[in-house]
Amino acid sequence: MPELDFSTHLDNARTLRSQGVRGRYAPSPTGSLHLGNLSSALYAWLQVRLADGVLVMRMEDLDERRAKEGSAEEILDDLRWLGLDWDEGPEIGGPAGPYTQSQRGTLYRQALEILRDQELIFRCFCSRKDVREAASAPHGSGGGVIYPGTCRNLDPDEQVEHQARHPDRKPALRVIAPDKDISLRDRIAGPYSENIAGDVGDFVVRRSDQVFAYQMAVVVDDALMGITDVVRGADLLPSTPRQIALYELFGAEVPRFWHAPMVVDDDGEPLSKRDGSRSLRELRDAGWDAPRVIGHLAASLGWVDEGARLSADELAAELDEKDLTDPNPTHIPVEASTVA
Ligand code: GLU
Repeated sequence: MPELDFSTHLDNARTLRSQGVRGRYAPSPTGSLHLGNLSSALYAWLQVRLADGVLVMRMEDLDERRAKEGSAEEILDDLRWLGLDWDEGPEIGGPAGPYTQSQRGTLYRQALEILRDQELIFRCFCSRKDVREAASAPHGSGGGVIYPGTCRNLDPDEQVEHQARHPDRKPALRVIAPDKDISLRDRIAGPYSENIAGDVGDFVVRRSDQVFAYQMAVVVDDALMGITDVVRGADLLPSTPRQIALYELFGAEVPRFWHAPMVVDDDGEPLSKRDGSRSLRELRDAGWDAPRVIGHLAASLGWVDEGARLSADELAAELDEKDLTDPNPTHIPVEASTVA
């Protein structure tokens, strides 16, 4: 089918990029949205709306083990309730679809072939435990384990031997890490640089359960959807050099990156979906309306005074790009801001 051909999509993406700013919000349907996810969603929405651009909604549902029934619909409903609208996405479609990752397998497989043709892919038989145990080397600057290259140069006999250690597991696929510094200038976080070979090692593009890895899927999608600006939480900044390496290998243009400060809980820890106490559903059930949620998020980023209530459109009208590149994050306990 021509509409599912990688190079046709890449040409299409070039045209879309040339027409102006294209941002995206890419939730995983793994549970209810909380204030942390919402802050990233608001950021992505504001960046696009301030630039008169197009916002793409993409559902990142590849990991079936983490997916929760009904979560995709709930997330879209919550975002609409907040007044964060989008221009292309599941249900409404658009020129760069499909917008749900589970419908994009053909493109990920073609992307894999592009890497295979460059002889950059190898099968890896190691479990996580094997990698941890073999990685006696110092850990990367991000604190993670560096893949020590165990399976990179196995001959066929050695491959059989390695497979025999885990007869029930299929091999993962890793891409050979480029041994060069990859640098970016994040629009919010500033300069960031990493040598992937030294800090991470060869990284997984298809997991042993045969699911395409986040790094791979996100780059294929952002590249083929013509995304010019990736706005997301700062927890994903360390993934960005790996993603830039993949853009280069696919011959795709690298977008601008904006890694927004994380919303933290009362102990200073980043919120996660497990922290149900701050899910939007709970706040809605407790009587919060959309202007109160937007006001709380905007105050947490230092853009409005604590206790302000305003719609997403009203907030957009008050801000300019400098506010987005220079937020002033501050922790506002949910309890305190409930005192009207
Ligand atoms: N799907 C990812 C998440 O929900 C976000 C990926 C991205 O923005 O690059 O955490």
